Amino acid sequence: MQPHSGSSAVLAAYAALLRPGDTVLAMALAHGGHLTHGSPANFSGRWFDFIGYGVDPHTGLIDYGQLHDLARAHRPKAIVCGSISYPRHLDYAAFREIADDIGAYLIADAAHPIGLVAGKAAPNPVPYADVVCATTHKVLRGPRGGMVLCGAELAERVDRAVFPFTQGGAQMHTIAAKAVAFGEAAQPAFTAYAHRVVANAHALADALAAEGVPVTTGGTDTHLITADPAALGLDGRAARARCAAAGIVLDSCALASATEPGGCVKGIRLGTAAVTTQGMGEREMARIAKLLVAALGEDESAPRIRGLRAEVRQLAASFPPYPA
Ligand SMILES: *Cc1c(COP(=O)(O)O)cnc(C)c1O
Repeated sequence: MQPHSGSSAVLAAYAALLRPGDTVLAMALAHGGHLTHGSPANFSGRWFDFIGYGVDPHTGLIDYGQLHDLARAHRPKAIVCGSISYPRHLDYAAFREIADDIGAYLIADAAHPIGLVAGKAAPNPVPYADVVCATTHKVLRGPRGGMVLCGAELAERVDRAVFPFTQGGAQMHTIAAKAVAFGEAAQPAFTAYAHRVVANAHALADALAAEGVPVTTGGTDTHLITADPAALGLDGRAARARCAAAGIVLDSCALASATEPGGCVKGIRLGTAAVTTQGMGEREMARIAKLLVAALGEDESAPRIRGLRAEVRQLAASFPPYPA
């Protein structure tokens, strides 16, 4: 429970299982891997030899055949499953089988889906992975922080990888807040929330497609939706700026592309956890899709942005996140 963040949890998992210079197979950053999955700007890329697996650029789905081939060719010490933007469930059994075939550890970086796992709305990596890392502040809806789960045989190595290897004293105020979040996640109301998050993501993905913004993989299994706004003549960065001007917060992210020479484009990434917590439902998802597509159609300085901003503000104000 001590890792200060999701990144610290991943660092602890690597410290427990690997030595500098080891080979690790993780999702390529251009296809949705996290910085801790081998970015040269991050400790992971500097200290380990990362090989990237990816998605089929036509379907957007993980290519488990390619993954298996890469595992056999490079014989990594560990395989990491987890992503910042993959909208579909992961096939943890397939990852386990591939890891077992080459004698690798399987590390699940479940920072995003762990809240859905707690709410029984997504498959659980715990029976399959040697170590599961997660954040406590994404769909899980707790304080900013990280955590690591593992079996008894690795527990001491993981504990030592956190303290004293990568961290000093425990932050008990955050650990107390994590306990409150886990208490909430164990309630039936949290299961209902997790399923509403997914239902809202389905509704938002469908509404975006209906508004002319097809989403990657044709839909979602989770809280996450990604899309390439190229059909509207925009890349993800420009789309993010236009949405921000209208008061809509979303992120740009790398997406695999079958046509770009570099193999990836900047797309957009949306999640439904926050709006679901505010109490919004499928009707509001349709409204959000309309507002979003309207914002994408306007330059940041266009006069119409002001009106959109007011509409966004009014929608948000009618669903206060902290009831009076
Ligand atoms: C968010 C995220 C992290 C890092 O979490 P921080 O708390 O921001 O350090 C690590 N891995 C994945 C897959 C993530 O989505």
